[in-house]
Amino acid sequence: ARATGEPLAPNTLAGVCAAPGVAVGQLVRWDDADLDPPEQASGTSAAESRLLDKAIASVDADLDTTVRDASQRGAVGEAGIFAVHRVLLEDPTLLDAARDLISLGKSAGFAWREAIRAQIDVLSKVEDALLAERAADLRDIEKRVLRALGYTSAAARTLPAEAVLAADEFTPSDLSSLDRTRVTALVMARGGATSHAAILARQAGIPALVAIGDALHAIPEGTQVVVNASTGRLEFAPTELDVERARRERSRLADVREANRRTSQQAAATSDGRAIEVAANIATLDDAKAAVDNGADAVGLLRTELLFIHRPAAPSADEHRQSYQAIADALGGRTAIIRTLDVGADKEVDYLTLPPEPNPALGLRGVRLAQVRPDLLDAQLRGLLAVRPLGAVRILLPMVTDASELIGIRKRIDELAREAGRTEAIEVGVMIEVPSAALLADQLAQHADFLSIGTNDLTQYTLAMDRCQPDLAAQADGLHPAVLRLIAATVAGADKHGKWVGVCGALAGDPLAMPLLVGLGVTELSVDPVSVPGIKARVRTLDYPLCRQRAQDALALESAQAVRAASRATWPLD
Ligand code: PEP
Ligand code: MG
Repeated sequence: ARATGEPLAPNTLAGVCAAPGVAVGQLVRWDDADLDPPEQASGTSAAESRLLDKAIASVDADLDTTVRDASQRGAVGEAGIFAVHRVLLEDPTLLDAARDLISLGKSAGFAWREAIRAQIDVLSKVEDALLAERAADLRDIEKRVLRALGYTSAAARTLPAEAVLAADEFTPSDLSSLDRTRVTALVMARGGATSHAAILARQAGIPALVAIGDALHAIPEGTQVVVNASTGRLEFAPTELDVERARRERSRLADVREANRRTSQQAAATSDGRAIEVAANIATLDDAKAAVDNGADAVGLLRTELLFIHRPAAPSADEHRQSYQAIADALGGRTAIIRTLDVGADKEVDYLTLPPEPNPALGLRGVRLAQVRPDLLDAQLRGLLAVRPLGAVRILLPMVTDASELIGIRKRIDELAREAGRTEAIEVGVMIEVPSAALLADQLAQHADFLSIGTNDLTQYTLAMDRCQPDLAAQADGLHPAVLRLIAATVAGADKHGKWVGVCGALAGDPLAMPLLVGLGVTELSVDPVSVPGIKARVRTLDYPLCRQRAQDALALESAQAVRAASRATWPLD
């Protein structure tokens, strides 16, 4: 996040980290200024219309292949992104608007671009992270169709050996078409840390900075730049010394990563022997493989939303079972905590046909949705209960507010288990992400097998700061003492019933936060698969009594910045 109040060095721009790392390279503009179709058609309207149809059909065929490939690889996320693009491509309002322009004598390319841009204009007037994502999807199909119409793009350019690509915002198709061996970093004027492009960059291990602002476009093509995504800085026209330092830092980080990987398959404990399970957060079969490869002890959070969105109808119990079984098999004996659906009015799921809500984050989401659509949860629970061997999976319930919800769902789980002829109990945990749940943790722990703290939402609801609001990104910090006190209350509540507490929000993978979480009594940290080796290595450097002491001290501090500063002073970042 952007450090508040700290003046920027000259020749430096600030952005938000979307994928960590350091890189040096030449700035290459990736905008599509050259995708500029002529306004007037050269042929008849009928001929232009046919050209457009042909281009759309060829893009549709390409997307179909991409979706199939991705599905076969188990890359559900990627498949979902491009499946949405196919739906957008067939949107009749879009096609009608383009045909109207063609009938006025415009070229197919021009008509397509204008029709798309009119829709993007409408979307960009609404402040909503999901709609902003949809605008990025539209820009993506705009470019694809223009390319199919024969307009050449930057994609065809050869890149320098070390290219730092700059754009207003990258789309998933940009990233799938570029030569990753030559790209050392991605920098964007706009975009968010949770955008599709950010997710793909993180998976590919390419450092990425977003939300730099229009100043990015003022840097001339070919300028040498240093990108430190981890600190959120882009330095242009650096001195020899800066470049030298960044290169050394890059190779030092690579060495540290390599050393951490060598010990990542072993369990982690603090230097004085307190065991800390380091698990992975995943969403797909690909992620499960990455988790194993990076040494995750288990899966601490499987987000199942991808199974529910981008589809015409709800998944059947058997589809659920197949997805979870494939993941359990890939985990080779490691357990997976599978979270039941956390979709709601804020995520588009066509077949739910829920009325729009003014405050979706405070609305019918998580287990609340399951209360009005019990069929959705039933199918998922049946699928979960059928995974073999028994004990391979545990259930995690999102957005629980108090024990009555847990008791109701637990009863249903027991009924379904009996129906399935199952005698062994399945473990059921509760996410602590609503402040009321943290305050009532002792009551929840009485009925749950474990608690898992979702610090992303717990921070949003405790501080009343929308987690998607870019202007609040730096302040919405889970190290706020108010959030830490709720974490302490959660552990105290769980202790009363001898239950364990994990953290599966982003705070678990934050090197400054994680020693304090350990000090508060958390025994499981669930992080991005790529972060597992680094977090395990850091656990091994900690001294538990010191963590406890510093965590107690942190509860008395007045701001997240103060907590961060205190943590950095005790446990410097490497
Ligand atoms: C959280 O809220 O911290 C969490 C892990 O869940 P999600 O980010 O999926 O809401
Ligand atoms: Mg959450």
